[in-house]
Amino acid sequence: MSIRIRVKPKRANDTSESSRNVGTARVLQGKIYVLSVFVGPRAHPWNPRDIDRQKQKVYEAERWLKMQALRYNKQVEFVNSAFGSDGSFTDDEMPQNCDSPNAYSYPSKVLLKVGFNSRDAFIQWVHTHTDCSQCLAIIFSNTKGRSFASPVSKELYEYNPHKYNLECCFLYSHFTDSDIETNAAAIAHEMLHLFGAWDLYELDNHDHDRAIKTSVMFPHSIMLDTSGDIWGKQIDEINAWLVGLKEQGKDWYRWFEPEQDSYD
Ligand SMILES: [Zn+2]
Repeated sequence: MSIRIRVKPKRANDTSESSRNVGTARVLQGKIYVLSVFVGPRAHPWNPRDIDRQKQKVYEAERWLKMQALRYNKQVEFVNSAFGSDGSFTDDEMPQNCDSPNAYSYPSKVLLKVGFNSRDAFIQWVHTHTDCSQCLAIIFSNTKGRSFASPVSKELYEYNPHKYNLECCFLYSHFTDSDIETNAAAIAHEMLHLFGAWDLYELDNHDHDRAIKTSVMFPHSIMLDTSGDIWGKQIDEINAWLVGLKEQGKDWYRWFEPEQDSYD
């Protein structure tokens, strides 16, 4: 879910409608704490072997993000932790897509299970017990679905910075109605949304002109397509700017701002 209030006009270098610098995943730099939570339906819990495979994908996504940051001479490091690694965390209320009514409230429920009575309490714990300056959560569901990110919008953050702060993404074991496994590229794609990245693909040719331009200009962008090997993909220059790797934006970047408000 994301609630955005559009304020126009905008200037070059204006990232005000991106979630960059908002919430707990602000810019793709420095040391970032990543909490992975594994939850499955009661009838179909995760098994520890599959959980281990998901963790390997997270580590691969992080290695790739580090390499991409280095292209811009920026250092990024990840500190990983996990909850539910034995597959014992089961729940049938897991949101099934970004439109699920509990998509935003669900991470608080998960944190309660982990042992934190609020998002703020978790963030405080990270600041007190680690040297990470940022954090995010990844919730892995052992169901099929369309993975999505839930970045905190500027408006929500200003409205209530204690309630709307921790940035999370939801990853399903397989893509909706398919046997296509969620891969490292999909994990990196959703993580990038939390730092402010825009989608470059169009659903159902929503904007035909934009769809053509993005596929010609950024054919290898991870924000265009997550299928296939992550090591054949890049963070395109627009998204490098949005997530804080590239210092200066260009006027024409704004043209690529997506119309839809979703972060699938
Ligand atoms: Zn996306």
